[in-house]
Amino acid sequence: MSYVQNVLDHLIQKNPSQPEFIQAATEVLTSLEPVIQANPKYEEAAILERLVEPERQIIFRVPWVDDHGKVHVNTGYRVQFNSAIGPYKGGLRLHPSVTLGTIKFLGFEQIFKNSLTGQPIGGGKGGSDFDPKGKSDREVMAFCQSFMTELFRHIGATTDVPAGDIGVGGREIGYLYGQYKRLTNHFEGVLTGKGLTYGGSLARTEATGYGLIYFLDEMLKDHGKSIAGKTIVISGSGNVAIYATEKAQQLGGKVVALSDSTGYVYDPDGIKLDTVKRIKEVERGRISEYVKEHPTAKYTDGKGIWSIPCDIALPCATQNELDEADAKMLVKNGVFAVAEGANMPSTIGATNVFLDNKILFGPGKAANAGGVATSALEMSQNAGMTSWSFETVDNKLHDIMINIYKNASAAAKQYGYTDNFVVGANIAGFTKVADTMLAQGVC
Ligand code: NDP
Repeated sequence: MSYVQNVLDHLIQKNPSQPEFIQAATEVLTSLEPVIQANPKYEEAAILERLVEPERQIIFRVPWVDDHGKVHVNTGYRVQFNSAIGPYKGGLRLHPSVTLGTIKFLGFEQIFKNSLTGQPIGGGKGGSDFDPKGKSDREVMAFCQSFMTELFRHIGATTDVPAGDIGVGGREIGYLYGQYKRLTNHFEGVLTGKGLTYGGSLARTEATGYGLIYFLDEMLKDHGKSIAGKTIVISGSGNVAIYATEKAQQLGGKVVALSDSTGYVYDPDGIKLDTVKRIKEVERGRISEYVKEHPTAKYTDGKGIWSIPCDIALPCATQNELDEADAKMLVKNGVFAVAEGANMPSTIGATNVFLDNKILFGPGKAANAGGVATSALEMSQNAGMTSWSFETVDNKLHDIMINIYKNASAAAKQYGYTDNFVVGANIAGFTKVADTMLAQGVC
Protein backbone atom coordinates (compact mmCIF):
# COMPACT_ATOMS: atom_id res chain seq x y z
CA MET A 1 0.00 0.00 0.00
CA SER A 2 1.31 3.50 -0.83
CA TYR A 3 2.41 5.96 1.85
CA VAL A 4 -0.48 8.31 0.89
CA GLN A 5 -3.05 5.52 1.18
CA ASN A 6 -1.65 4.46 4.56
CA VAL A 7 -1.98 7.98 5.93
CA LEU A 8 -5.51 8.29 4.56
CA ASP A 9 -6.62 4.94 5.99
CA HIS A 10 -5.36 5.95 9.41
CA LEU A 11 -7.07 9.35 9.10
CA ILE A 12 -10.42 7.75 8.21
CA GLN A 13 -10.12 5.34 11.14
CA LYS A 14 -9.31 8.17 13.52
CA ASN A 15 -11.97 10.68 12.36
CA PRO A 16 -15.00 8.60 11.33
CA SER A 17 -17.49 11.36 12.09
CA GLN A 18 -15.75 14.06 10.02
CA PRO A 19 -16.74 13.29 6.40
CA GLU A 20 -15.90 16.77 5.05
CA PHE A 21 -12.40 16.67 6.56
CA ILE A 22 -11.85 13.18 5.14
CA GLN A 23 -13.09 14.41 1.73
CA ALA A 24 -10.73 17.40 1.71
CA ALA A 25 -7.75 15.33 2.88
CA THR A 26 -8.48 12.59 0.32
CA GLU A 27 -8.67 15.12 -2.50
CA VAL A 28 -5.39 16.78 -1.53
CA LEU A 29 -3.34 13.73 -0.55
CA THR A 30 -4.25 11.58 -3.56
CA SER A 31 -3.30 14.41 -5.92
CA LEU A 32 0.11 14.66 -4.19
CA GLU A 33 1.11 11.07 -5.15
CA PRO A 34 3.52 12.17 -7.92
CA VAL A 35 5.43 14.64 -5.72
CA ILE A 36 5.50 12.21 -2.78
CA GLN A 37 6.88 9.42 -4.96
CA ALA A 38 9.53 11.68 -6.47
CA ASN A 39 10.65 12.93 -3.02
CA PRO A 40 11.13 10.17 -0.38
CA LYS A 41 12.29 12.86 2.10
CA TYR A 42 8.64 13.71 2.83
CA GLU A 43 7.78 10.17 3.93
CA GLU A 44 11.01 9.89 5.93
CA ALA A 45 10.02 12.98 7.93
CA ALA A 46 6.34 11.89 8.26
CA ILE A 47 5.27 15.14 6.63
CA LEU A 48 1.79 13.90 5.65
CA GLU A 49 1.02 12.53 9.13
CA ARG A 50 2.03 15.90 10.59
CA LEU A 51 0.08 17.89 7.98
CA VAL A 52 -3.24 16.18 8.69
CA GLU A 53 -2.94 16.65 12.47
CA PRO A 54 -3.80 20.21 13.58
CA GLU A 55 -1.16 21.85 15.76
CA ARG A 56 -3.89 22.91 18.19
CA GLN A 57 -7.71 22.60 18.44
CA ILE A 58 -9.70 24.82 20.75
CA ILE A 59 -13.34 23.99 21.54
CA PHE A 60 -15.31 26.15 23.93
CA ARG A 61 -18.72 27.03 25.35
CA VAL A 62 -20.40 30.22 24.09
CA PRO A 63 -23.30 31.23 26.35
CA TRP A 64 -25.38 34.30 25.42
CA VAL A 65 -28.73 35.87 26.24
CA ASP A 66 -31.43 36.62 23.62
CA ASP A 67 -33.77 39.65 23.49
CA HIS A 68 -36.34 37.84 25.67
CA GLY A 69 -33.86 37.07 28.45
CA LYS A 70 -33.46 33.41 27.47
CA VAL A 71 -30.00 31.87 27.80
CA HIS A 72 -28.56 29.96 24.80
CA VAL A 73 -25.39 27.93 24.48
CA ASN A 74 -23.41 27.36 21.29
CA THR A 75 -20.10 25.60 20.63
CA GLY A 76 -17.11 27.69 19.53
CA TYR A 77 -14.12 26.32 17.58
CA ARG A 78 -10.68 27.51 16.50
CA VAL A 79 -8.46 24.99 14.76
CA GLN A 80 -4.87 26.22 14.46
CA PHE A 81 -3.78 23.83 11.76
CA ASN A 82 -0.31 24.74 10.54
CA SER A 83 2.02 27.64 11.33
CA ALA A 84 5.08 26.56 9.32
CA ILE A 85 5.11 29.61 7.05
CA GLY A 86 3.38 32.24 9.20
CA PRO A 87 0.78 32.99 11.87
CA TYR A 88 -2.47 31.01 11.59
CA LYS A 89 -4.86 32.79 9.23
CA GLY A 90 -8.40 31.86 8.21
CA GLY A 91 -12.00 32.90 8.66
CA LEU A 92 -14.68 32.36 11.27
CA ARG A 93 -17.90 30.69 10.07
CA LEU A 94 -21.23 31.15 11.86
CA HIS A 95 -23.78 28.66 10.55
CA PRO A 96 -25.94 26.01 12.26
CA SER A 97 -24.23 23.26 10.21
CA VAL A 98 -20.78 23.95 11.71
CA THR A 99 -19.07 21.02 13.46
CA LEU A 100 -15.45 20.31 14.36
CA GLY A 101 -15.20 18.35 11.08
CA THR A 102 -16.35 21.40 9.07
CA ILE A 103 -13.73 23.60 10.69
CA LYS A 104 -11.01 20.97 10.20
CA PHE A 105 -11.81 20.65 6.49
CA LEU A 106 -11.71 24.42 6.06
CA GLY A 107 -8.52 24.79 8.12
CA PHE A 108 -6.79 22.03 6.17
CA GLU A 109 -7.67 23.65 2.81
CA GLN A 110 -6.49 26.98 4.18
CA ILE A 111 -2.91 25.70 4.67
CA PHE A 112 -2.43 25.18 0.92
CA LYS A 113 -4.47 28.21 -0.13
CA ASN A 114 -2.43 30.52 2.07
CA SER A 115 0.80 29.03 0.80
CA LEU A 116 -0.35 29.61 -2.80
CA THR A 117 -0.83 33.34 -2.15
CA GLY A 118 2.95 33.69 -1.72
CA GLN A 119 2.44 35.50 1.58
CA PRO A 120 3.75 34.46 5.02
CA ILE A 121 0.51 33.07 6.49
CA GLY A 122 -0.22 29.69 8.07
CA GLY A 123 -3.56 27.86 8.05
CA GLY A 124 -6.38 28.05 10.59
CA LYS A 125 -10.16 28.30 10.75
CA GLY A 126 -12.86 28.74 13.35
CA GLY A 127 -16.52 29.37 13.95
CA SER A 128 -19.62 28.21 15.72
CA ASP A 129 -22.99 26.52 15.17
CA PHE A 130 -24.66 29.87 16.02
CA ASP A 131 -27.14 31.01 13.33
CA PRO A 132 -27.07 34.79 12.80
CA LYS A 133 -30.12 34.61 10.52
CA GLY A 134 -33.17 36.25 12.08
CA LYS A 135 -31.20 37.50 15.11
CA SER A 136 -31.28 41.15 16.17
CA ASP A 137 -28.09 43.25 16.11
CA ARG A 138 -28.00 43.08 19.91
CA GLU A 139 -28.24 39.29 19.91
CA VAL A 140 -25.43 39.03 17.34
CA MET A 141 -23.35 41.37 19.50
CA ALA A 142 -24.04 39.30 22.62
CA PHE A 143 -22.91 36.16 20.83
CA CYS A 144 -19.79 37.78 19.36
CA GLN A 145 -18.74 39.23 22.71
CA SER A 146 -19.14 35.87 24.43
CA PHE A 147 -17.27 34.08 21.61
CA MET A 148 -14.35 36.51 21.85
CA THR A 149 -14.29 36.28 25.66
CA GLU A 150 -12.73 32.84 25.23
CA LEU A 151 -11.05 33.23 21.82
CA PHE A 152 -8.99 36.32 22.74
CA ARG A 153 -6.44 34.34 24.78
CA HIS A 154 -5.56 32.16 21.75
CA ILE A 155 -5.12 34.80 19.02
CA GLY A 156 -2.97 37.88 18.32
CA ALA A 157 -1.42 39.88 15.48
CA THR A 158 1.58 37.51 15.24
CA THR A 159 -0.13 34.34 16.50
CA ASP A 160 -3.48 33.86 14.79
CA VAL A 161 -5.48 36.40 12.78
CA PRO A 162 -9.11 35.37 12.10
CA ALA A 163 -11.35 36.93 9.41
CA GLY A 164 -14.90 36.50 8.08
CA ASP A 165 -16.54 33.57 6.29
CA ILE A 166 -20.16 32.45 5.94
CA GLY A 167 -22.29 34.44 8.41
CA VAL A 168 -19.41 36.74 9.41
CA GLY A 169 -19.22 40.13 7.68
CA GLY A 170 -18.36 43.68 8.72
CA ARG A 171 -20.92 43.80 11.54
CA GLU A 172 -19.65 40.65 13.26
CA ILE A 173 -15.96 41.58 12.79
CA GLY A 174 -16.72 44.94 14.45
CA TYR A 175 -18.29 43.34 17.53
CA LEU A 176 -15.49 40.77 17.77
CA TYR A 177 -12.79 43.44 17.47
CA GLY A 178 -14.42 45.69 20.06
CA GLN A 179 -14.46 42.87 22.59
CA TYR A 180 -10.85 41.86 21.82
CA LYS A 181 -9.68 45.42 22.39
CA ARG A 182 -11.64 45.70 25.61
CA LEU A 183 -10.21 42.46 27.01
CA THR A 184 -6.58 42.98 26.00
CA ASN A 185 -6.19 46.76 25.92
CA HIS A 186 -4.40 46.27 22.57
CA PHE A 187 -5.29 48.06 19.37
CA GLU A 188 -3.65 45.67 16.89
CA GLY A 189 -4.29 43.94 13.58
CA VAL A 190 -5.76 40.84 15.16
CA LEU A 191 -8.74 40.45 12.83
CA THR A 192 -9.05 41.23 9.13
CA GLY A 193 -12.12 42.46 7.30
CA LYS A 194 -12.21 45.36 9.76
CA GLY A 195 -14.09 48.60 9.10
CA LEU A 196 -12.15 51.31 7.27
CA THR A 197 -12.13 53.60 10.32
CA TYR A 198 -10.25 51.11 12.52
CA GLY A 199 -7.61 49.45 10.36
CA GLY A 200 -9.58 47.78 7.60
CA SER A 201 -8.27 47.65 4.04
CA LEU A 202 -9.93 49.11 1.00
CA ALA A 203 -10.94 46.34 -1.44
CA ARG A 204 -11.09 43.60 1.26
CA THR A 205 -14.88 43.39 0.89
CA GLU A 206 -14.56 42.89 -2.87
CA ALA A 207 -11.42 40.75 -2.74
CA THR A 208 -12.64 37.14 -2.87
CA GLY A 209 -15.17 37.78 -5.64
CA TYR A 210 -12.86 40.03 -7.66
CA GLY A 211 -9.96 37.63 -7.15
CA LEU A 212 -12.08 34.74 -8.41
CA ILE A 213 -12.77 36.60 -11.63
CA TYR A 214 -9.10 37.63 -12.01
CA PHE A 215 -8.14 33.95 -11.71
CA LEU A 216 -10.87 32.93 -14.19
CA ASP A 217 -9.83 35.66 -16.61
CA GLU A 218 -6.20 34.49 -16.55
CA MET A 219 -7.20 30.83 -17.00
CA LEU A 220 -9.38 31.76 -19.99
CA LYS A 221 -6.77 34.05 -21.56
CA ASP A 222 -4.21 31.25 -21.31
CA HIS A 223 -6.59 29.17 -23.44
CA GLY A 224 -7.47 31.86 -25.98
CA LYS A 225 -10.86 32.67 -24.44
CA SER A 226 -12.41 35.57 -22.53
CA ILE A 227 -15.25 36.46 -20.16
CA ALA A 228 -16.79 39.06 -22.48
CA GLY A 229 -20.16 38.03 -23.87
CA LYS A 230 -20.31 34.77 -21.91
CA THR A 231 -23.37 33.59 -19.97
CA ILE A 232 -22.48 32.99 -16.33
CA VAL A 233 -24.35 31.24 -13.50
CA ILE A 234 -23.23 32.02 -9.93
CA SER A 235 -24.58 30.28 -6.83
CA GLY A 236 -24.99 32.10 -3.52
CA SER A 237 -25.73 35.79 -3.07
CA GLY A 238 -23.40 36.58 -0.19
CA ASN A 239 -20.08 38.40 -0.13
CA VAL A 240 -18.26 36.21 -2.66
CA ALA A 241 -21.16 35.86 -5.12
CA ILE A 242 -21.99 39.59 -5.13
CA TYR A 243 -18.46 40.78 -5.90
CA ALA A 244 -17.81 37.98 -8.40
CA THR A 245 -20.95 39.20 -10.20
CA GLU A 246 -19.75 42.80 -10.07
CA LYS A 247 -16.33 42.08 -11.61
CA ALA A 248 -17.71 39.59 -14.16
CA GLN A 249 -20.16 42.24 -15.33
CA GLN A 250 -17.39 44.84 -15.53
CA LEU A 251 -15.49 42.48 -17.84
CA GLY A 252 -18.52 42.07 -20.11
CA GLY A 253 -19.91 38.77 -18.79
CA LYS A 254 -23.65 38.24 -18.50
CA VAL A 255 -24.57 36.85 -15.07
CA VAL A 256 -28.06 35.34 -15.33
CA ALA A 257 -28.60 33.60 -11.98
CA LEU A 258 -27.88 33.86 -8.26
CA SER A 259 -29.22 31.85 -5.29
CA ASP A 260 -29.45 31.52 -1.53
CA SER A 261 -30.23 28.56 0.69
CA THR A 262 -33.97 28.87 -0.13
CA GLY A 263 -33.89 29.01 -3.94
CA TYR A 264 -32.56 30.76 -7.04
CA VAL A 265 -33.44 33.60 -9.41
CA TYR A 266 -32.96 33.41 -13.17
CA ASP A 267 -32.92 36.75 -14.98
CA PRO A 268 -32.36 36.18 -18.72
CA ASP A 269 -31.73 39.93 -19.18
CA GLY A 270 -28.82 39.82 -16.71
CA ILE A 271 -28.88 40.20 -12.91
CA LYS A 272 -29.35 43.79 -11.63
CA LEU A 273 -26.70 43.85 -8.95
CA ASP A 274 -27.94 47.02 -7.20
CA THR A 275 -31.16 45.22 -6.31
CA VAL A 276 -29.26 42.19 -4.97
CA LYS A 277 -26.89 44.36 -2.92
CA ARG A 278 -29.79 46.20 -1.31
CA ILE A 279 -31.72 42.99 -0.51
CA LYS A 280 -28.68 41.12 0.83
CA GLU A 281 -26.30 43.74 2.23
CA VAL A 282 -28.77 46.27 3.60
CA GLU A 283 -32.08 44.51 4.28
CA ARG A 284 -30.61 41.02 4.98
CA GLY A 285 -33.56 39.61 2.98
CA ARG A 286 -34.15 36.60 0.70
CA ILE A 287 -33.16 36.35 -2.98
CA SER A 288 -36.82 35.56 -3.83
CA GLU A 289 -37.59 39.27 -3.28
CA TYR A 290 -35.63 40.10 -6.45
CA VAL A 291 -38.52 39.14 -8.76
CA LYS A 292 -40.87 41.68 -7.13
CA GLU A 293 -38.80 44.43 -8.80
CA HIS A 294 -37.83 42.55 -11.96
CA PRO A 295 -40.92 40.66 -13.13
CA THR A 296 -39.19 39.18 -16.21
CA ALA A 297 -36.96 37.23 -13.83
CA LYS A 298 -38.13 33.90 -12.41
CA TYR A 299 -37.68 32.58 -8.87
CA THR A 300 -37.56 28.83 -8.17
CA ASP A 301 -37.58 27.27 -4.70
CA GLY A 302 -34.86 24.78 -3.78
CA LYS A 303 -31.69 23.63 -5.49
CA GLY A 304 -31.48 23.37 -9.28
CA ILE A 305 -29.48 26.43 -10.25
CA TRP A 306 -27.02 24.19 -12.17
CA SER A 307 -29.78 23.20 -14.62
CA ILE A 308 -29.57 26.69 -16.17
CA PRO A 309 -27.51 26.52 -19.40
CA CYS A 310 -24.33 28.63 -19.22
CA ASP A 311 -20.79 28.97 -20.55
CA ILE A 312 -19.22 29.55 -17.14
CA ALA A 313 -20.35 28.27 -13.71
CA LEU A 314 -19.09 29.79 -10.45
CA PRO A 315 -20.21 27.97 -7.28
CA CYS A 316 -19.95 30.60 -4.52
CA ALA A 317 -22.26 29.34 -1.73
CA THR A 318 -21.01 26.40 0.32
CA GLN A 319 -19.33 22.96 0.36
CA ASN A 320 -20.72 20.08 -1.71
CA GLU A 321 -23.38 22.25 -3.36
CA LEU A 322 -22.52 20.87 -6.82
CA ASP A 323 -22.63 17.08 -7.21
CA GLU A 324 -21.83 14.66 -10.00
CA ALA A 325 -25.33 14.89 -11.55
CA ASP A 326 -25.11 18.71 -11.53
CA ALA A 327 -21.69 18.54 -13.19
CA LYS A 328 -22.99 16.21 -15.92
CA MET A 329 -25.91 18.56 -16.56
CA LEU A 330 -23.58 21.58 -16.82
CA VAL A 331 -21.32 19.73 -19.27
CA LYS A 332 -24.33 18.59 -21.33
CA ASN A 333 -25.54 22.20 -21.48
CA GLY A 334 -22.18 23.40 -22.83
CA VAL A 335 -20.26 24.81 -19.84
CA PHE A 336 -16.58 25.29 -20.71
CA ALA A 337 -15.17 26.79 -17.49
CA VAL A 338 -15.89 26.36 -13.77
CA ALA A 339 -14.14 28.27 -10.98
CA GLU A 340 -14.89 27.74 -7.30
CA GLY A 341 -15.59 30.84 -5.20
CA ALA A 342 -16.73 28.70 -2.28
CA ASN A 343 -14.56 26.20 -0.41
CA MET A 344 -14.95 22.66 -1.80
CA PRO A 345 -18.33 23.37 -3.47
CA SER A 346 -17.84 20.51 -5.96
CA THR A 347 -17.94 16.93 -4.73
CA ILE A 348 -15.03 14.70 -5.76
CA GLY A 349 -17.40 13.06 -8.31
CA ALA A 350 -18.30 16.45 -9.81
CA THR A 351 -14.64 17.50 -10.01
CA ASN A 352 -13.80 14.29 -11.87
CA VAL A 353 -16.63 14.94 -14.38
CA PHE A 354 -15.17 18.39 -15.10
CA LEU A 355 -11.60 17.09 -15.43
CA ASP A 356 -12.62 14.10 -17.58
CA ASN A 357 -14.49 16.43 -19.95
CA LYS A 358 -11.55 18.86 -20.22
CA ILE A 359 -13.53 21.69 -18.65
CA LEU A 360 -11.22 24.49 -17.46
CA PHE A 361 -11.59 23.98 -13.71
CA GLY A 362 -10.24 26.39 -11.07
CA PRO A 363 -10.32 24.71 -7.62
CA GLY A 364 -11.36 26.84 -4.64
CA LYS A 365 -8.02 26.85 -2.85
CA ALA A 366 -6.51 28.66 -5.85
CA ALA A 367 -9.48 30.54 -7.32
CA ASN A 368 -10.87 31.97 -4.06
CA ALA A 369 -7.51 32.80 -2.44
CA GLY A 370 -7.98 36.51 -3.17
CA GLY A 371 -9.84 37.04 0.11
CA VAL A 372 -7.11 35.75 2.36
CA ALA A 373 -4.42 37.32 0.17
CA THR A 374 -6.03 40.72 0.70
CA SER A 375 -6.38 39.97 4.40
CA ALA A 376 -2.61 39.55 4.44
CA LEU A 377 -2.35 42.93 2.71
CA GLU A 378 -4.53 44.33 5.51
CA MET A 379 -2.07 42.85 8.03
CA SER A 380 0.83 44.53 6.20
CA GLN A 381 -0.95 47.89 6.30
CA ASN A 382 -1.72 47.46 10.02
CA ALA A 383 1.89 46.54 10.79
CA GLY A 384 3.10 49.61 8.91
CA MET A 385 0.44 51.87 10.51
CA THR A 386 -0.63 52.92 7.03
CA SER A 387 -3.42 52.45 4.50
CA TRP A 388 -3.22 52.02 0.75
CA SER A 389 -5.61 53.25 -1.95
CA PHE A 390 -8.26 50.97 -3.44
CA GLU A 391 -6.29 50.88 -6.67
CA THR A 392 -3.05 49.86 -4.95
CA VAL A 393 -4.71 46.96 -3.12
CA ASP A 394 -6.71 45.90 -6.18
CA ASN A 395 -3.57 45.89 -8.37
CA LYS A 396 -1.69 43.77 -5.82
CA LEU A 397 -4.67 41.38 -5.66
CA HIS A 398 -4.72 41.13 -9.45
CA ASP A 399 -0.99 40.30 -9.57
CA ILE A 400 -1.37 37.71 -6.80
CA MET A 401 -4.21 35.92 -8.64
CA ILE A 402 -2.24 35.84 -11.89
CA ASN A 403 0.73 34.36 -10.01
CA ILE A 404 -1.45 31.74 -8.33
CA TYR A 405 -2.76 30.68 -11.73
CA LYS A 406 0.74 30.56 -13.23
CA ASN A 407 2.22 28.60 -10.31
CA ALA A 408 -0.63 26.05 -10.29
CA SER A 409 -0.37 25.69 -14.06
CA ALA A 410 3.43 25.26 -13.97
CA ALA A 411 3.30 22.68 -11.15
CA ALA A 412 0.67 20.69 -13.05
CA LYS A 413 2.82 20.70 -16.18
CA GLN A 414 5.98 19.77 -14.27
CA TYR A 415 4.38 16.54 -13.06
CA GLY A 416 2.69 15.67 -16.38
CA TYR A 417 -0.81 16.89 -15.52
CA THR A 418 -1.08 19.85 -17.92
CA ASP A 419 -4.24 21.91 -17.33
CA ASN A 420 -5.20 19.93 -14.22
CA PHE A 421 -5.22 22.85 -11.79
CA VAL A 422 -6.46 20.64 -8.93
CA VAL A 423 -3.20 18.70 -8.96
CA GLY A 424 -1.22 21.86 -9.79
CA ALA A 425 -2.64 23.95 -6.92
CA ASN A 426 -2.23 21.16 -4.39
CA ILE A 427 1.38 20.46 -5.37
CA ALA A 428 2.37 24.15 -5.51
CA GLY A 429 0.73 24.85 -2.12
CA PHE A 430 2.12 21.70 -0.51
CA THR A 431 5.75 21.97 -1.63
CA LYS A 432 6.42 25.28 0.12
CA VAL A 433 4.83 24.17 3.40
CA ALA A 434 6.44 20.71 3.35
CA ASP A 435 9.93 22.06 2.61
CA THR A 436 9.53 24.62 5.40
CA MET A 437 8.48 21.88 7.82
CA LEU A 438 11.60 19.93 6.86
CA ALA A 439 13.75 23.01 7.46
CA GLN A 440 12.19 23.59 10.90
CA GLY A 441 12.81 20.03 12.13
CA VAL A 442 10.37 17.78 13.99
CA CYS A 443 7.91 20.18 15.63
P1 NDP B 1 -21.97 34.73 3.00
O1 NDP B 1 -22.49 34.33 4.33
O2 NDP B 1 -21.77 36.15 2.69
O3 NDP B 1 -22.90 34.11 1.85
C1 NDP B 1 -23.10 32.73 1.76
C2 NDP B 1 -24.09 32.48 0.63
O4 NDP B 1 -24.21 31.07 0.41
C3 NDP B 1 -25.49 32.97 0.97
O5 NDP B 1 -26.17 33.29 -0.21
C4 NDP B 1 -26.10 31.71 1.62
O6 NDP B 1 -27.52 31.68 1.57
C5 NDP B 1 -25.52 30.62 0.79
N1 NDP B 1 -25.41 29.40 1.60
C6 NDP B 1 -24.74 29.26 2.77
N2 NDP B 1 -24.90 28.01 3.26
C7 NDP B 1 -25.67 27.38 2.37
C8 NDP B 1 -26.18 26.06 2.30
N3 NDP B 1 -25.92 25.16 3.27
N4 NDP B 1 -26.94 25.73 1.23
C9 NDP B 1 -27.21 26.64 0.26
N5 NDP B 1 -26.75 27.91 0.27
C10 NDP B 1 -25.99 28.26 1.31
O7 NDP B 1 -20.60 33.91 2.82
P2 NDP B 1 -19.41 34.17 1.82
O8 NDP B 1 -19.94 34.70 0.53
O9 NDP B 1 -18.36 34.89 2.53
O10 NDP B 1 -18.86 32.68 1.60
C11 NDP B 1 -19.33 31.83 0.57
C12 NDP B 1 -18.31 30.72 0.33
O11 NDP B 1 -17.06 31.30 -0.05
C13 NDP B 1 -18.01 29.84 1.53
O12 NDP B 1 -17.72 28.53 1.08
C14 NDP B 1 -16.75 30.47 2.10
O13 NDP B 1 -16.00 29.53 2.86
C15 NDP B 1 -16.04 30.82 0.81
N6 NDP B 1 -15.00 31.83 0.95
C16 NDP B 1 -15.27 33.07 1.47
C17 NDP B 1 -14.28 34.02 1.57
C18 NDP B 1 -14.56 35.41 2.04
O14 NDP B 1 -13.63 36.24 1.96
N7 NDP B 1 -15.76 35.75 2.47
C19 NDP B 1 -12.89 33.70 1.20
C20 NDP B 1 -12.72 32.42 0.57
C21 NDP B 1 -13.75 31.52 0.50
P3 NDP B 1 -28.37 32.03 2.92
O15 NDP B 1 -28.18 33.49 3.13
O16 NDP B 1 -29.75 31.63 2.58
O17 NDP B 1 -27.75 31.18 4.00
